[in-house]
Formats: sequence, structure tokens, C-alpha cells
Amino acid sequence: MVGHGMDGAETMSPSPAEVIPVPERALAIGAHPDDIEFGAGGTLAGWAQAGCLVTMVIVTDGSKGSWDPEADPAELAEVRAREQQAAAKQLGVSEVLFLGHADGVFENTLEVRSDIARLIRTHRPDVMFSHDPWARYEIHPDHRATGWAVVDGAVAARDHLFFPEHGLEPHRPDSLLLWRPDEADYWEDISATIDEKIAALLAHESQHHTTMLDGGSAFEDQVRGWAAEQGRAAGLDAAEAFKRLHL
Ligand SMILES: [Zn+2]
Repeated sequence: MVGHGMDGAETMSPSPAEVIPVPERALAIGAHPDDIEFGAGGTLAGWAQAGCLVTMVIVTDGSKGSWDPEADPAELAEVRAREQQAAAKQLGVSEVLFLGHADGVFENTLEVRSDIARLIRTHRPDVMFSHDPWARYEIHPDHRATGWAVVDGAVAARDHLFFPEHGLEPHRPDSLLLWRPDEADYWEDISATIDEKIAALLAHESQHHTTMLDGGSAFEDQVRGWAAEQGRAAGLDAAEAFKRLHL
């Protein structure tokens, strides 16, 4: 809540009362290795430092994440799983789960919805994170399908008549934060953790030559630029923007 006036159209910053207190448990679900870091790495680093137990779930194996025609998909999946563990370490996140679906062809089936609901009932997060399935012009099918699977799974996890075969108590997280949102209405200040976010992104070495501008200072500048851009609407120097859904 720094640097914003009280009189202009730019006063969309959440008041302190609306900022989510650091939760006990958070669950972040991304389609591919590195998606969570791009979307919420700064927020999760800050929460982990403050004692939040963060669990990351990677839905696909990332086996199509290469522009090298010689790349072996099975080998790439192994490399990317190792990189994800290294990225989690940079953020102070201790637990990473891999669902192992094939990259690029993931679909939100009823079985998947049940799996997500089971994860929620098992880990019992206060806050969840994922892709915004309503985001306009999101071209990656895995991002859309993962977003829907998480929204649908969260609805199922709340009520005991969904998937009673789990044999688990229902669970209702307080909030679901959707990164790269169609309409942002919640911001987390990441000024203090943007270095950890960048370090976590760079841990995905196999992606330096695809989506990370060769992993050099231009990429670091790009990430800082995105954080500044996302923070602008909330009067923050560096932020991650989300759509907040109350479950
Ligand atoms: Zn992705």
C-alpha cells in the first residue's frame, strides 16, 4: 500500500484489511514446470519465508517444452522434474508433486477433477493458485484445461456428496488466486522476493533457450518489467496480479 494517492482512478490497491494474511497452507497447481514460478513465484517465496507450508503440483511432464528437434521427450521430462525441484528450493518450497500427464494433450476429465478434489481434501490448503481458465486469448490448451480442472476440483472438494469414494473430509479453501488473470482484482507485493522469483525461473535451465531469452539479463529485465506493470494498478513497485475467487 505504498505510493498510491487517494484521489485518482489508480487507487485500486487492496486496503491492508483485504490483503490475505500469510496462510498456514497453500497449494499451487500449474500445467507445466515453471508455470507456477511465472505466475506466483514471488508470492509463494514470501509466504514460504513466513512459515506457510507450500505444495506445488505440476500437472504435465513438460515433455514438449523444447525447440530442439533432437530432444528426447522422456529425457526432457526427467530434466524438467529435476529443474522443478531446484526451482522449488529457490522459493523455499519443500513439496513438489508431479501428476505426470502428457504435455500438450491434457484434458479436464471427471477422473482429473476427482484427482484435484482429492489433492485439496488431502492437503487442505487455505489458499490455492492456478491458471485463469477465463483468460481471453490464452492459447495453450494445457493452461486452459488445468485452470478448469482446478476450479471444478475446488467446487467438488467442498461438498461431501462429491466423490465420497475418497473417504476424506470435504475441504473449502478460503481463496483461489488465478494468475495472469483476465481481470485482476488482487495484488501481492513481491518487491522483497523478486530475486527469488527470478532465481527460481532460471533454475529451469532447459527453458533458457525457449521462453527465457537465453536466461541472461534481458530475461531478468523482462520479469522485473512484468512485475512493475502488474503492480502499477495497485500502486506497487513490483507485484503479482491475480483474480481472487472466494470458494
Ligand atoms: Zn505452461
